[in-house]
Amino acid sequence: MIELDDAWAQLSAELWRPQDAESVPLDAALGRVLSAPPKAPHAVPPFPAAAMDGYACAASDLPQLLTTGLPVIGTAFAGTPWQGDLPPRTCLRIFTGAAVPPPCNTVLPQEEVQREGDRIRASARLEGHRYVRPAGGDFPAETPIGQANQRLTARHLGLFAAAGLSAVACWRRPRVALLSTGDELAAPGAPLAWGQIHDASRFLLPGALEALPVELLGTWHCGDSMESLEHTLATMLEAEPDVLISTGGVSVGDADYLRPWLAARGTLRFHRLALKPGRPFTFGLLNERLAFFGLPGNPVSSYVTFLLLVAPALRQLAGECATPPLRLRGRLAEPLKKAPGRRDFQRAYFTTTENGFLVSSFPEQDSHLLSVLAEANCLLDLPLACGDLPAGTEVTFLPLS
Ligand code: AMP
Ligand code: MG
Repeated sequence: MIELDDAWAQLSAELWRPQDAESVPLDAALGRVLSAPPKAPHAVPPFPAAAMDGYACAASDLPQLLTTGLPVIGTAFAGTPWQGDLPPRTCLRIFTGAAVPPPCNTVLPQEEVQREGDRIRASARLEGHRYVRPAGGDFPAETPIGQANQRLTARHLGLFAAAGLSAVACWRRPRVALLSTGDELAAPGAPLAWGQIHDASRFLLPGALEALPVELLGTWHCGDSMESLEHTLATMLEAEPDVLISTGGVSVGDADYLRPWLAARGTLRFHRLALKPGRPFTFGLLNERLAFFGLPGNPVSSYVTFLLLVAPALRQLAGECATPPLRLRGRLAEPLKKAPGRRDFQRAYFTTTENGFLVSSFPEQDSHLLSVLAEANCLLDLPLACGDLPAGTEVTFLPLS
């Protein structure tokens, strides 16, 4: 049995990184991985802009406010700039976001001046060079914006849109094919014969894949025979996936053909983890390039190993720079049970208190319990050697969202 960190080290060393980039329209770029930072076509802001509602003038005209005042000769709105000239010792009514025309370099907030007819005055000296957002103050034209190998969020899309871009260069998404194995599995919604169960992975894993920069080619199902497995995998390979993910059939039962198939057709890298849940996790390569992840059949085990190993692997394949998952520290609200010997990721629930996070492990930890997985909001990361723990122990956990 190999440990989780060693499994990840092996796995990440085996996986290729993407070579081919493509231009992706902004409205399809959310969650994609940037291959190269685009250059801003123009400065942002593109012109000096008012940061307050008030009056725009030249700083050198401010002393006038204490004597004759400044005549207001026009108005500038956001999107409707003042088109005329601005003679010396005059000012403009201006609103937030409007272009500040030269020679103005100051916006006086309306609260700081008194309006008398078509003039403004002030009763105290006011400072100039204020409340103007300079052109290029966010970034100048031609600046590379964003970072290569970064997964794009709404915040990045806002940045690119502001810069005037309509498409950006992203890495091609790895193509993923999913396989559920098992004679007992019925499609979700289909009537169940005695001894059958509904296939949970067929929704669990596509749902988890949604959060990743990958393309799901489809979900397949095969029965527990070498013929069924071979036939289905051949069909799946026709879809030209970069990654195959299967569930079930990787234990050492009589109906488990996946590992022998992978060992014969490709290379089996490892297949037993010192992990709970998820001991029979299998990883190998087909044709030296296609990554094959054989996840355990129990849905909780497949989901946990997916999160711990497959998701980071897919992110690496998608070109994303590696960032370790968020880990938080908290205290156990109740005692918990654990046998030493495997690293355990227990389904748990954390709450935020005045004294930090409190974490409760669910008393039922069996790896077929989807109700517990659905209720959990974190996984408690319990080291291999650790045994039962009393309430109050400081623990590490991984939030699930
Ligand atoms: P296996 O690894 O194929 O021996 O499966 C282990 C356990 O997980 C068995 O009880 C299976 O019935 C169950 N199982 C396998 N695949 C699924 C699935 N897709 N959805 C729900 N349970 C499953
Ligand atoms: Mg099975």
